[in-house]
Amino acid sequence: MNILVLVKEVPDMSRVKFDRERGVVDRSSAEAEMNPFDENALQAALDLKEKTSLDISVTVMTMGPKRAAYTLQDAYARGADRCLLLTDRQFGGSDTCATARTLAAAINKEGGFDLILCGEKSVDGDTAQVGAEVAEFLDLPHAYYAERILNLDKEKIQVLIEDIGGSKQIRTMTLPALIGVTKNISKLKLPTVKRKLESLEKGVQHITIQDLSGHLKEEQAGFKGSPTKVSKIVIPKQEKRSSQIIRNDLAAFLQAVNQELVEKGIV
Ligand code: FAD
Repeated sequence: MNILVLVKEVPDMSRVKFDRERGVVDRSSAEAEMNPFDENALQAALDLKEKTSLDISVTVMTMGPKRAAYTLQDAYARGADRCLLLTDRQFGGSDTCATARTLAAAINKEGGFDLILCGEKSVDGDTAQVGAEVAEFLDLPHAYYAERILNLDKEKIQVLIEDIGGSKQIRTMTLPALIGVTKNISKLKLPTVKRKLESLEKGVQHITIQDLSGHLKEEQAGFKGSPTKVSKIVIPKQEKRSSQIIRNDLAAFLQAVNQELVEKGIV
C-alpha cells in the first residue's frame, strides 16, 4: 500500500516577525520547520507502517522553495521512504487553489497512492483548504479533522472525526481517499541518530512545472493560476484594554456594568 503525506514548510511561528510596512510575514526572521499538524500526519502514516500487516511505503510531498529539501530530509529522518519536492519559479505566488491543483497534478503524475494524509491546517496560512481541494481535484472521497484511524485494509479506511458541534462521527471511505488529521492522530516519536545520519545522504526528487506537462497547464500554476487577489493586508493593532475589579458587592457590580453599557451606547 502506498501512503502519501502532504507536508508544508512553515516558519517557526513562536519566533517569526511581521513586516508591518509590507504586511507580510518576514520569513527570514525565523527558521523554517515542518508544519506541526503535518508532523502528526507523517507519524500516523509511519505508525500504520509499523503496526499493521499491510506492506506500506510512505512518500512525503511538499511544494515550496528549494530550501524545503531540509524539511524533507527531516521527514526521511523520521522514517519516510521517499520524498518529492515540487519546486519551480512558476509555482511562486500560488494561492490555495493553485497550490492544491499543482499538488494534485503531481499526485496524478506519480500515480498509485492508496491513501493521502494531510494536516488539518497550516500554522501560517491557516486556511485549512488545501487538503480538501486536492481531494476534489482528484475526485477522491475525503474526511477532515480525523483524530483516529479505526481501521485500514486494502479496500477501505474508517476514521473517527473530532467532536464538532457535540457529536463524534465515524466515516468509512473506499480507497483511494484523503484524510486531514488533527494533532490527536498520533504521538510524535524522535528520529533515531542512525536515521538522522542516513537522511543526510538521501536525495530528494525534484519535480518542476515541465515534469507536470500533460497534468498541469502553465496558466493553472503560480500567480497566473491563482484566482485570489489580495488587495491589502492589515495587521490589527492591539487596542488598549482597561478593567475594573469589583468584589463581594453585587449591586455595585451591576451598576458598573449598566453604566459601562450606557456609556458605550450599547443599551
Ligand atoms: P492549509 O490549507 O491550512 O493546509 C492544510 C494542509 O495542506 C497542510 O497541513 C498540508 O498537509 C497541506 N499543504 C498545504 N500547503 C502545502 C504545500 N505547499 N505543500 C504540501 N502540502 C501542503 N505563499 C508562499 O509561500 N509564497 C507565495 O508567493 C504566496 N503567494 C500567495 C498569493 C496569494 C494571492 C495567496 C492568497 C496566497 C499566497 N501564498 C503564498 C500562500 C499560499 O497560498 C498558502 O501558503 C498555500 O496555499 C497553503 O495554504 P495554507 O497555508 O492555508 O494551507
